[in-house]
Amino acid sequence: MRKVLITGGAGFLGSHLCDKFIDEGYHVICMDNLITGDQSNIEHLLSHERFQFIYHDVTEFVSIEGDLDYILHFASPASPIDYLKIPIQTLKVGSLGTHNLLGLAKAKNACILIASTSEVYGDPLEHPQSEEYYGNVNVIGPRGVYDEAKRFQESITMAYNRFHGLQTRIVRIFNTYGPRMRLNDGRVIPAFIGQILRGEPLTIFGDGKQTRSFCYIDDQIEGIYRLLFSSYELPVNIGNPKEITIIDLAKEMEKLSSQSIKFNFKDLPKDDPLQRQPDISLAKKLLNWEPAVDRAEGIEKTINYFMNLPKEALYKTEH
Ligand code: NAD
Ligand code: UDP
Repeated sequence: MRKVLITGGAGFLGSHLCDKFIDEGYHVICMDNLITGDQSNIEHLLSHERFQFIYHDVTEFVSIEGDLDYILHFASPASPIDYLKIPIQTLKVGSLGTHNLLGLAKAKNACILIASTSEVYGDPLEHPQSEEYYGNVNVIGPRGVYDEAKRFQESITMAYNRFHGLQTRIVRIFNTYGPRMRLNDGRVIPAFIGQILRGEPLTIFGDGKQTRSFCYIDDQIEGIYRLLFSSYELPVNIGNPKEITIIDLAKEMEKLSSQSIKFNFKDLPKDDPLQRQPDISLAKKLLNWEPAVDRAEGIEKTINYFMNLPKEALYKTEH
């Protein structure tokens, strides 16, 4: 039986990947230190005979018994409020953690896919962003801890590929949303949903004219899965190219909620990118992949998920 190690497997994306690989018949090892993830995301898998959970910080030496066919390295804080709160851990998991997993992949002769991000493009001066764009990152700004960790991660992955001949894949993930995000993780869609469900005004940073392009989780997982089984070793953007301003997103969500909602404008965080939209031509050509779920449908599914959580979840402020 094929065996896959998923780091960050108790997080948002990681837990959906665990589900996908269980469904596809793999033995899944989920490794996580729960720093931003939650065991409830994998509770339904814990008794599965092909599923194993290992509580471990991947910045420490990683050891797995027996063979391993694939590694998906998704461990890392991903939300701006998380990585601003734990900047050193963020740098360590992208650098030391990635080094440990590349070493493990080499020892096991496994293929490794690492989760990179649209943040490698920083506050982009080219629009939309294609994989050829080198980016515009403020190395020493507050977001630099995440962006530079991910840029280092890509760099060391390519070094293992070129120097050791390791089979590697790099996915550059653009803003993804859906069930199992934390309502309090600060990312805009769960933040707005929490505010709507609590009857609060929506917080809009800056004038709300900055743009993002939101991808529903099922589409993202399918793109990642196809990339792993391609033979392409350079970075590939996976995201939904439908771009929207944050103010228009707020209006769209107000309409979906059928309530009249106030907006509360706050300062734009430092280095918050003004625009972001993936160029997905490469993924389309290479993987025959493009997103299938539109924003209204995806947001509705996400709202339904949060509405079905226990009421206390709505008021939880700390992880
Ligand atoms: P998440 O916070 O829900 O999941 C991250 C998981 O990694 C958590 O379960 C956390 O406990 C675990 N983790 C963190 N540091 C660890 C360590 N040192 N050892 C073991 N486990 C550790 O975030 P997510 O949105 O699911 O993001 C997952 C990955 O995808 C991250 O690498 C992130 O950079 C990348 N990504 C996500 C998005 C997005 O829109 N969700 C966008 C771009 C990139
Ligand atoms: N944002 C906002 N209100 C919030 C949370 C976020 O206006 O309550 C804005 C944020 O400034 C950014 C965009 O929404 O411009 C997306 O933020 P998120 O944290 O979801 O993702 P990222 O900035 O990492 O793309």
